[in-house]
Amino acid sequence: MNAVHNVMEAAVKDLLDKQWENLLISCHCETCRLDVYALSLNRLKPHYVRAQSGNMYAKANLMTTQARATILTAITESAKVVSAYPHH
Ligand SMILES: [Zn+2]
Repeated sequence: MNAVHNVMEAAVKDLLDKQWENLLISCHCETCRLDVYALSLNRLKPHYVRAQSGNMYAKANLMTTQARATILTAITESAKVVSAYPHH
């Protein structure tokens, strides 16, 4: 069923893509990036919207300074965890 969509995923992915090179992390491989992505999403509240209805609007809401700071904190904390316990 594709009726709802978690726009937090796209918001975290966008910010992670932008910040990845600057992130303090022991390893910058794709596996560690996906670990940080998954951990960050677990730390953040999902933000569901009905598919094909105002995705961009909801995403814009997640791009406020406050929302970006919250997401970036989750990414930074997750990078610390992955650095301490790399899965490979
Ligand atoms: Zn790695």
